[in-house]
Amino acid sequence: MLYRIYKLFRSFFYPERCPYCYKRIEYNKIACDECRGQFPKTYSINYAKGGYICCSPFFYQGIFADAVKRLKFNQFTQSSEKLAAVLEDCVRKSYNIEEIDLITFVPMHRKDYSDRGYNQAELLAKDLARKLKITCEKTLIKHKRTAPQHECLSSAKRRDNVKGAYKVIEKKKPKLKGKTILVIDDILTTGYTMGECCKTLEKCSNSRVICATVCAKNDIYT
Ligand SMILES: [Zn+2]
Repeated sequence: MLYRIYKLFRSFFYPERCPYCYKRIEYNKIACDECRGQFPKTYSINYAKGGYICCSPFFYQGIFADAVKRLKFNQFTQSSEKLAAVLEDCVRKSYNIEEIDLITFVPMHRKDYSDRGYNQAELLAKDLARKLKITCEKTLIKHKRTAPQHECLSSAKRRDNVKGAYKVIEKKKPKLKGKTILVIDDILTTGYTMGECCKTLEKCSNSRVICATVCAKNDIYT
């Protein structure tokens, strides 16, 4: 309730915008009618490297790719909650949410985090966790700075680029044992980044790890 009042109050000063086309919309809408009409009827299920299941409401194309780019590069953090609303529906339809113990997210290297000022995966994970009423915690750190995955042309380079880049935060380890963990990111591109995060979590805690992203790239297996 308080959150709704806060949102209404905020909308007087910062008009709400459609995450997909940036047009102004009413504060309680998740998209303008035109963009909403372009939402796919079904969600896609893909696999991160290592076979970890990943559900995504959109493919990375057109207005959906624009939405992720705005969140990631244009400081348009207000859209996170609206994107998380679509992610919530996708997660509810793809998984048994009763089984999910914890939500976490793909971390950024601290240098990249301080350059951007926020981690879009963390914003999405926190908004989603609030909607699903599941705890969200940072469980991983990225201790190796990597080149952007799209700059690595071969599959082997993409794999080597992220290999060993993540580790589980030491004091979080006992909390993760045998749990079902949902890992969030904005986009599943090559599947290596998400796969590496899942493997790192699974190896440390014998957990079941599943994933969700806002977008999935069409050609992640090529
Ligand atoms: Zn729109």
